[in-house]
Amino acid sequence: MAKQRITILGSTGSIGVSTLDVIGRHSDRYETFALTAHTQIDKLFEQCLKFWPQYAVVSTPELASELQEKLKLQGIPTVVLYGAQALCDVATAGECDAVMAAIVGAAGLPSSLAAAQAGKRILLANKESLVMSGHIFMDAIAKSGATLLPIDSEHNAIFQCLPGSYGRKIEHSGISKIILTASGGPFLNRAVETLTDVTPDQAVAHPNWVMGRKISVDSATMMNKGLEVIEAHWLFGAPADQIDVLIHPQSVVHSMVSYVDGSVLAQMGNPDMRTPITFGLAFPERIDSGVAPLDLTTFSQLHFQLPDFQRFPCLGLAYQALRVGGSAATILNAANEIAVEAFLAGRLGFRQIESVIEECLNHISSVSLDDLAAILEVDGQARRHATGFVSRVGVH
Ligand code: NAD
Ligand code: MG
Repeated sequence: MAKQRITILGSTGSIGVSTLDVIGRHSDRYETFALTAHTQIDKLFEQCLKFWPQYAVVSTPELASELQEKLKLQGIPTVVLYGAQALCDVATAGECDAVMAAIVGAAGLPSSLAAAQAGKRILLANKESLVMSGHIFMDAIAKSGATLLPIDSEHNAIFQCLPGSYGRKIEHSGISKIILTASGGPFLNRAVETLTDVTPDQAVAHPNWVMGRKISVDSATMMNKGLEVIEAHWLFGAPADQIDVLIHPQSVVHSMVSYVDGSVLAQMGNPDMRTPITFGLAFPERIDSGVAPLDLTTFSQLHFQLPDFQRFPCLGLAYQALRVGGSAATILNAANEIAVEAFLAGRLGFRQIESVIEECLNHISSVSLDDLAAILEVDGQARRHATGFVSRVGVH
């Protein structure tokens, strides 16, 4: 069997590293075609030494020549490229069989969309790109015949609970609800009035998952679940009313699908992203991921509760954006990225993140979006508005 050649967009991140761990376990099946990083060239250098990709991509020409020089000294033939176009090139190259889209945030959109347009097998971790570009992304998949495999653990769970019905409209599948589980993050039980004092270090300390800083803050505000509601809408064609969120602090049930006949299918496992990543790589086969088997006897109880929209207003804002439609989710995503960046930099309080998003949703009207240029235009407009608001209300 020919090896599958994989491009990992964002190989130095949390998802990227887990993907390389799985690829390393199955070197008979997979090899890396391209690995990409923003600025962490030391980590990318180590990955190139180990995996010998054909290409490596970084963000600036200076970093590219520095990395190229280091690799040359070690006799590694990897060619180093740089910039946004290079990300699209390695995601669409004829020699690449599958693309792991694991760049964080809006920066991941052009390359994941390019992979969709090129008809690739796409393992989608970068939920923000789907939130921003919803119908354009799904249209590109349908037109090009690309295979889209959700890597976000909840959506991967739902995918696994939809035998045969993936890609069909939800009304023809006998599904009554998609139930996204959520851990509730580090502040599920913290006194609400103390949330104003939350520091970045407290916000990124997730109880169950080890993840990048941006998604960790999103989990603390539950915007992560909000983005996932929108992601589920596009992936599975489900209207907002048929997507529920259920808090499940142990993160053992990764999501569920409830059918009209009363059946509820759930996918379970230890909270380790190598399970959905391995599923995406091997689909429709099943291979070892290195994840320990789930031992349910170690849990005396599994807990479930409804989310508190007062404690987590970002979740409500995401439902609102989904219901408004058009560019509202693009605005929501951009405002959130600016707010989270400002919070992590100490320029914004934790409870001001929701204010930035609300401000942008209230002051920028939703328009319909037809192409990438229109999306990037709205994204830029929302970023400028959010940045102005942060500098007015933020910490000085
Ligand atoms: P991370 O911060 O650990 O890694 C991000 C990667 O993107 C890095 O390789 C970085 O070099 C690259 N990157 C960042 N900015 C870039 C830019 N401007 N241009 C090019 N590359 C850039 O993030 P992560 O936790 O691995 O998350 C990646 C994506 O996967 C996010 O969209 C996140 O929502 C999603 N996701 C992550 C997890 C998880 O467990 N970590 C779970 C589900 C979904
Ligand atoms: Mg998730």
